Amino acid sequence: MQSRALLACVTGLAVLLLSGCGADPPEPTASPASPPPSAALPPQPSTPTPTASPTPTLRALPAKLPAGLVRTTGVSQVALTFDDGPDPNWTPKVLDRLKAAKVKATFCVVGTQVRKHPELVRRIAREGHQLCNHSWNHDFDLARRPVAEIRADLVRTNREIRRAVPDAEVPFYRQPGGRWTAEVVKVAKRLGMRSLHWTVDPKDWARPTAATIEKRVERAARPGAVVLLHDGGGNRAATLAACRKLIAALKRDHGVARLR
Ligand SMILES: [Zn+2]
Repeated sequence: MQSRALLACVTGLAVLLLSGCGADPPEPTASPASPPPSAALPPQPSTPTPTASPTPTLRALPAKLPAGLVRTTGVSQVALTFDDGPDPNWTPKVLDRLKAAKVKATFCVVGTQVRKHPELVRRIAREGHQLCNHSWNHDFDLARRPVAEIRADLVRTNREIRRAVPDAEVPFYRQPGGRWTAEVVKVAKRLGMRSLHWTVDPKDWARPTAATIEKRVERAARPGAVVLLHDGGGNRAATLAACRKLIAALKRDHGVARLR
């Protein structure tokens, strides 16, 4: 059993490394009506969490995204969202870039990262950005688990965020991989969080060039778009490099506003 467990762990790590370390699975660019992929299951976190059941019975993903998702800003300006941090290499640089551009964004933070880098969460909040719960350990299947487990995961993550920033407002939850179920939307709502999806996914998690990320965002952005980017989960050099021109273009074309 031990060797099997070790093998599973090593395989999981290899998959993680190949796929850009915790990056979200493929989502269609600028086609919000398409459901998240349910075929190729993403890598599971190799660290066990208290909220993960050893033999989980997962509910099926719905064919369509459930009701109640926030998918636009509700105003003409677009919003920038950064997922999977805080990351000690990339988050400070992204924050510097946002400060230079005088725009506010939303950071969808992962609980385990918050625990490691509370000072970065403090900086995010101090500089006027919005916080979003992105689960404790980036569990792609969280929305498919029993409601009590979903709730425990979200509560634990918010508790960690508030350990870093005691008065933090966390008005949003974003399901890893966009693998939503009606249940997770309901649990998030009961905890005072709206479920934040996106409009534009340039797939920066697959590490295209900075020019490709810029082009994808600029082409797909419409008034009110919610743009998905990543400041964590792997090497984000291209995302960072794309930010300068991308933010300038979005400011010029639509204006950039913090989600409310
Ligand atoms: Zn994510």
